[in-house]
Amino acid sequence: MGIIRKTQSVALLLDEFNTNSGAISVTTLNKRLNSNLNKSTIYRVLDKLEDDGVLHSFLGDNGIKWYAKCEGCSHDNHKDIHPHFQCVVCGKVDCLNVDIVVPKIPNREINSTEILIKGKCETCLN
Ligand SMILES: [Zn+2]
Ligand SMILES: [Zn+2]
Repeated sequence: MGIIRKTQSVALLLDEFNTNSGAISVTTLNKRLNSNLNKSTIYRVLDKLEDDGVLHSFLGDNGIKWYAKCEGCSHDNHKDIHPHFQCVVCGKVDCLNVDIVVPKIPNREINSTEILIKGKCETCLN
């Protein structure tokens, strides 16, 4: 295996998100890409893509980090305050396109909100 250049590692990672709908955990990304990219490269590229407003991250079960594509975010304007849904049967995680109301808390400034809803996805319900 030759040396993979930076642009190629970005392309490889983005490919995963373009061929899969929904979110992908870091564990899965490492497994799928470890023949081409090492762990530190994967983390570095994910960080960069998140910083650029291409991906956003959140924590799933067991504190595992998940990434999903952003819709219309940029470096200066990350606005992924939507909840995420984790299926307790198949483990699939995706972004929920619903609005949530974050309550105003006196004397506190809110920087981020993370909501993980668990249940059965549309496939496992039937
Ligand atoms: Zn499911
Ligand atoms: Zn999301």
